[in-house]
Amino acid sequence: MKKINRRTFLKASAAAAVVSSVPLYFSFNDYKKAAEEIEIKQIPTFCHGCTSYCGIIAHVKNDRLWKVEGHPIHLKSRGHICARAHGMAAYEYSKDRITSPMKRVSGDKFEAISWEQAFKEIGEQLNGIVRKYSGNSVVWMEHGTHRKTYVDRFFDKIGSPNFITQYSTCFNAKTNAWLQMTGTSLNGDHQNAKYMIFEGRNFAGGIIPNGMNQITKAKENGAKIIVIDPRYSEIAKIADEWVPIRPGSDLAFRLAMANVLISEKIYNKVFVDKYVEDFAEFWKYNKDKTPEWAEEITGISADKIREIARDFAKNAPQAFVEPGWHGLHSHYINSTQIAQMGIILNALVGNFYERGGLMPSAGISLGHLELPTVFGPEKGERVDGAGVEGKYRSVEASRGIAQIVPKLVEEGKVKAVFVCNYNPLRTAPNPKEQVKLKNAELVVSINVDWNETSYHAAHYILPEHYYLERFEHPYTVSGHLAHDHPQVSLRQPVVSPMYDTKGTLDILKGIAEAMGYADLYPFTIEDDIKAAIKPLGIDMERLQKAGTIEFPATVKTGFPLKKGKPALSTKTGKIQFSAELLRIEGNIGVPTWIPPLVSPDPTKEDEFRLIHGKQPWHSHAFTSNNDYLMAMSERYDGTYMWINTSRAKKLGIENGDTVTVESSIAKNQVQVKVTELLHPECVWVPSTYGGFSPNNKTAYNVGVNFNDFIPVMVEPHSGTTMSQEVVVKIRKGVK
Ligand code: SF4
Repeated sequence: MKKINRRTFLKASAAAAVVSSVPLYFSFNDYKKAAEEIEIKQIPTFCHGCTSYCGIIAHVKNDRLWKVEGHPIHLKSRGHICARAHGMAAYEYSKDRITSPMKRVSGDKFEAISWEQAFKEIGEQLNGIVRKYSGNSVVWMEHGTHRKTYVDRFFDKIGSPNFITQYSTCFNAKTNAWLQMTGTSLNGDHQNAKYMIFEGRNFAGGIIPNGMNQITKAKENGAKIIVIDPRYSEIAKIADEWVPIRPGSDLAFRLAMANVLISEKIYNKVFVDKYVEDFAEFWKYNKDKTPEWAEEITGISADKIREIARDFAKNAPQAFVEPGWHGLHSHYINSTQIAQMGIILNALVGNFYERGGLMPSAGISLGHLELPTVFGPEKGERVDGAGVEGKYRSVEASRGIAQIVPKLVEEGKVKAVFVCNYNPLRTAPNPKEQVKLKNAELVVSINVDWNETSYHAAHYILPEHYYLERFEHPYTVSGHLAHDHPQVSLRQPVVSPMYDTKGTLDILKGIAEAMGYADLYPFTIEDDIKAAIKPLGIDMERLQKAGTIEFPATVKTGFPLKKGKPALSTKTGKIQFSAELLRIEGNIGVPTWIPPLVSPDPTKEDEFRLIHGKQPWHSHAFTSNNDYLMAMSERYDGTYMWINTSRAKKLGIENGDTVTVESSIAKNQVQVKVTELLHPECVWVPSTYGGFSPNNKTAYNVGVNFNDFIPVMVEPHSGTTMSQEVVVKIRKGVK
């Protein structure tokens, strides 16, 4: 922070006087005294740097944010935050924020318009679209589900079932497998574990501050950490062992682990007999998936696979394969089976509901407003086919298939698209396809800055309040980490809105009103918050003061039972090794070996699999326009693509060289880091860069993005993008 002195004060005063034409009556000393004496308020809220939503305390002086720090109680932060939290807090003052509603007038030209005009025009166009094509032609795309309850009322009114999240580009395979096989979702109990396997899971890259604290404490207490990953990732730095696996072969490794556990009879037979269904069917298909079989595919020796499987069993139940999120779960044609195997390996050692194994993340039920029922036209089938018989039946309808929306626009099935807190043009495969979103009759982007979707595809941009300026529906803190005590957390304004922006509820209200549905939202965000927390026995004042409130423990160890019988929310109450929904078109419900869709030709020196991952100071492309975080990228050569030393040598490539990367759909140039810390058969790029919106100036034209090189694909079971099913050719120089 620049220190103020008499000279800078006088300069600033003169400028202020010119701008405002208001005479300044007080002296520098008065000003300095007032500035020093003004109270620094500490206001709790939660971070928006990634979906961990860690609790933070904002320090605010004169309605200006000074700093943020970790909330001491919030499960994900416990007093600590990561670099992204600081960078994203500073983004409040970014030069690239959208300052008022915008309308595209021609090409890349926009004009600022009033909210009244925006609502009127959007409302009229939407009415016309719904009348002509039905509500089923309208899609809402959002990063997650946070605004879903508000959107649901709107979609009930117009008759659309099409709420689509970005999860098909992230982790659908994992949530789908857990839902189908267990009816729940458990997390690693890191702090009590003795043995943790992180396979394709970079916990120190997709960082959760308190999660890393728990892992390092467990390590101090003697826990062993095994990292299976083609890249020496950040979590590998604290591992006891890094096992570089051939990219695309994780399913084979997991099948062979299970084979050792079962054939050597070191699995937990008592647990399996009591709580597992379809064990025999799984074994029937996988008896021959021995470590020797897997050695060929994974490049990991049969002895090493046996050693890991035996150590895993020996330390169970205080041992787990970390369930993970993005890594592996949207990457391959066999991602659903990889996710199934994550559940099966943990079940085989009987670590479910055991301390140090897999435990729940305590949730709490919130209340809701009693609102008049919305009557609208009957909804048709989801336009993306998620959960629809004959299309993508086993894909979770609540999450949808984001990457195919532009194709649905082209086919004339989607006519209006709302994109909220999401940027599919940069975060979904093949931007040349994604940009076709703009061909819908109406595209509205509700975002805070000029991201690629706003700049290249939106007809209207409606600026949302930044996260430090708004209330949101209260949040139950759960997921990622095991914990016994439910928590509720509140996002609340810590500074006044800087620009002519609105919260999403008010944006929806404005559009609904313009469509003639003035009574659709007869409540304010404050009413909604009060109703949500009412059953918890707390009031708004208390929650605003505390930011995060923790409740007495609700989680118990031991497999859930009802009248002595297994009571998971599955058909049998047990863990289903066979997922019924997967048995379509000749497929079986249990996982067995499915090779990757594509692989580099080992005889070709220039062919590699392109893989990607998160850096600890970025949240994929979401943070790429941040000056502070991009300064870190520059300092650490963070935009470089990694290539293995021996392969680079064969191609005459040296550290820092520019190379050409070419896939079947794109070609681009990037600088490289030559390293021993990557499997020779792949190249790795961070998932952050390749910005192509000229108005997001910090990110513009920096680095490359893996999505540029991937065709739009849909993994049939979970709807994911298969984002590592891509082979690229690498050449030195710009060719
Ligand atoms: S992990 Fe970091 S960026 Fe994500 S919510 Fe927590 S503090 Fe914010």
